Amino acid sequence: MFGKIEHIGIAVLDIRAANSLYEQLLGISPYKEEKVESEGVITSFFMAGNNKVELLQGVGEGNAITSFIEKKGEGIHHIAFEVEDILAEMQRLKGLGFQLINQEPKKGADNKLICFVHPKSANGVLIELCQEIR
Ligand code: ZN
Repeated sequence: MFGKIEHIGIAVLDIRAANSLYEQLLGISPYKEEKVESEGVITSFFMAGNNKVELLQGVGEGNAITSFIEKKGEGIHHIAFEVEDILAEMQRLKGLGFQLINQEPKKGADNKLICFVHPKSANGVLIELCQEIR
């Protein structure tokens, strides 16, 4: 089963500039900044009430964020849902014919196991499954 929206991911060109903008917008500082080498991204996280926002900037060649921004510009990149059991959810979705981008869960930012569902399978929205690493 899917739980709450864990966070919303926003693709940005310049994470420093975006951090100060979102600090002003939300009135809070990011609680974490983290580079995820495997994804070629730098991330920062804001917690506004119960709502988490992840900013993502691409680094290096061939990362997903830079190519997203080239095609669509900055903006909402993905919506992440909390799941209890990521392997079970991946199996369930595969069984229903959803196209998964990752065939195995991988380590994401902020202590999570993650897997993406292709936007082609979800009305143009990139969906992230997100399981807390316990
Ligand atoms: Zn995310």
